[in-house]
Amino acid sequence: MTNPLYDTLIAPHAGNSSTFLECDDGTQLSYDAFVRRAAQMAHVLVAAGVAPGDRVVVQAPKLSDTIALYAGSVQAGAVYLPLNTAYTEAEMEYFVADAQPKLIVCDTKDETAINAIATKIEAKVLTLDGAGGSLSATANEMPEVFETVQRDPDDLASLLYTSGTTGRSKGAMLSHKNLLSNAEVLTELWQITDDDRLVHALPIFHTHGLFVAMNTALLSGASVRFMEKFDLDAVLDTLPTATLMMGVPTFYTRLLSDERFGKPTVANMRLFISGSAPLLAETHVAFEDRTGHRILERYGMTETNMITSNPYNGERIAGTVGYALPGTEVKITDAATGDACATGDIGVIEVRGDNVFQGYWQMPEKTAEELRDDGFFITGDLGMMAKDGRVSIVGRQKDLIIAGGYNIYPKEIEDVINDVPGVLESAVYGVPHPDFGESVIASIVLEDPALSTDRIISMVETNLARFKHPREYQITEALPRNTMGKVQKNILRELHQE
Ligand code: ATP
Ligand code: MG
Repeated sequence: MTNPLYDTLIAPHAGNSSTFLECDDGTQLSYDAFVRRAAQMAHVLVAAGVAPGDRVVVQAPKLSDTIALYAGSVQAGAVYLPLNTAYTEAEMEYFVADAQPKLIVCDTKDETAINAIATKIEAKVLTLDGAGGSLSATANEMPEVFETVQRDPDDLASLLYTSGTTGRSKGAMLSHKNLLSNAEVLTELWQITDDDRLVHALPIFHTHGLFVAMNTALLSGASVRFMEKFDLDAVLDTLPTATLMMGVPTFYTRLLSDERFGKPTVANMRLFISGSAPLLAETHVAFEDRTGHRILERYGMTETNMITSNPYNGERIAGTVGYALPGTEVKITDAATGDACATGDIGVIEVRGDNVFQGYWQMPEKTAEELRDDGFFITGDLGMMAKDGRVSIVGRQKDLIIAGGYNIYPKEIEDVINDVPGVLESAVYGVPHPDFGESVIASIVLEDPALSTDRIISMVETNLARFKHPREYQITEALPRNTMGKVQKNILRELHQE
């Protein structure tokens, strides 16, 4: 009997008494206890009628039992489907209808609403909350050993929805091989071992917090300081005894905004990793100045797991996402022809490897559009590759502005604006224009409220060709962001249509 993910990530920890999860309330769960808890969860799934291949929808708080449910789902051969805890009833109704799960696990406070949704497809509902819930209570009664369900490498382990930054989230079908191959590569590249203690303040319903962070910890036997959310005080408290942190760029800007954060805080730290959204070069530099650590930036997406990473040993260059991971091929292609671009030219990033998903759930046309017959996946991100293979991301294809027939890359303009002293950050995007097709708008957040827009305009005019100049500069309190700290340009575009 084999089950690639279970056999590699979870089974080896039977009898391992070292700490796996340390939760906010001080409770600790050993690896051995986790293996037994996962088995109890697998029994709950079977008792709820979940057969191998069935989806299990999970919209639940970040608890150790939520991770045990993920492991139990793997062991029972089910397809784990976590959803953003911020989704409303209407959104949950859409996802549940799309995924047709046998079981929905929700927060106890949402039970009534979720019951109404579940009834329509005859799914069972169990609940989770900090004090228990029916899932935990049922699991308590179950045996601590479960006969692992056989799975092939290409069988699905998870259906993970994308972050919904550019539109409605799409379900990415991820196989055992997709997840396992990436966990193996990352663990080795970042040299994660059982000596590590990971600060985990990410949500566990996206690829970053669930697969990048938890699968590498499980594979290496690292211990995880499992924080319900990014709380600045709590993270500052934990860092001195941690060795590893995975975060989104906003975690790092928030740390830098606090004077308590400095060399003593990171005395034990080995590695800071950033991803999910672009890390500003300024943040990278300020972080090194303050701590002596160069943040390691990597790039990936729900559909492909991780694709590139800056090196562990070797130059970590601000504003780049490093090299294709071992076993992963990356190429830059012309959007119109699909042909490979010349070195240094901007094009669409395409990727092939064991990490690339099996297609979009129930969207065969979209899958066919983005997944080529030869196995390359068209990411929709624009980037370029240096001679030595180092990749830089320029932005998303959907955010490319075409004005008067010219291609305008928002990042180039944002970089100039962000460099003006007194600017905190900016987002540049296009809105429809009757003559030019699109016109360029800049939304800017100031660090120094006294900074005049004229100063920004003059910097833009000195540095950029006229066709790239924003037609409007809009000063705003904050940029709209989703849970992963990604700027939602579609919201900005809608707001500034006029
Ligand atoms: P949706 O596909 O639903 O619009 P999304 O693309 O934001 O949402 P994810 O799969 O969570 O959903 O995010 C992947 C995207 O995040 C990548 O395609 C890329 O645009 C961006 N990204 C990830 N890491 C980085 C990075 N280091 N630098 C810049 N962008 C990054
Ligand atoms: Mg995407």
